[in-house]
Amino acid sequence: MLNSRENLKKYREKRDFNRTTEPGEGKGGLRWTTRCPIFFIQKHDASNLHHDFRIEIDGVLKSWAVPKGTFTDSSKKCLAMPTEDHPLEHANFEGTIPEGEYGGGAVRIWDHGRYRNLKKDEAVSKSGSQKIEDAHVTIWLESHKLKGSYALIRTGTTDKARWLLIKMNDEEADPRRDPNAAEPNSVKTGCTPEEIREYYQK
Ligand code: MN
Repeated sequence: MLNSRENLKKYREKRDFNRTTEPGEGKGGLRWTTRCPIFFIQKHDASNLHHDFRIEIDGVLKSWAVPKGTFTDSSKKCLAMPTEDHPLEHANFEGTIPEGEYGGGAVRIWDHGRYRNLKKDEAVSKSGSQKIEDAHVTIWLESHKLKGSYALIRTGTTDKARWLLIKMNDEEADPRRDPNAAEPNSVKTGCTPEEIREYYQK
């Protein structure tokens, strides 16, 4: 198997670990098993407020920035911009990245949980990374705020291809729910974005 840690080169290159508050690899002591892979969503108050959607695949966190995540409305297709792979340790990260550093702004863990691949027949024949390359990922999420089936779909084939994160239409879809408004706080600490900014800037 490809050494997934090699995939983290971009992550390392974008950051000065003497300045940023984000974790490097091997920091934080987290160990995950591939039997129950994790996903999580950070809400990131950077120059543009967005969600960072990350799923554990082959030892790293595959990542997308989602500017307008609705998460429960199956009629909405949410643009998801691929970002660099993140180390698993990032799943524990909440804090304020200093202004001037890459991604400067307050980050809170808006949601986290487990996921399973819904295309079981492919599980033994293709690695998760290969599925990402093929741009057809359907997963079942189960977390504090979200539940149900989701699709990550790439449209187009060039480097500028767009990805969409879509809540699939199942019994868990509910356009009346608005977890962004109803449940805005961190699932790790219960903090509001204001509290995270205040706390971590002291
Ligand atoms: Mn971000």
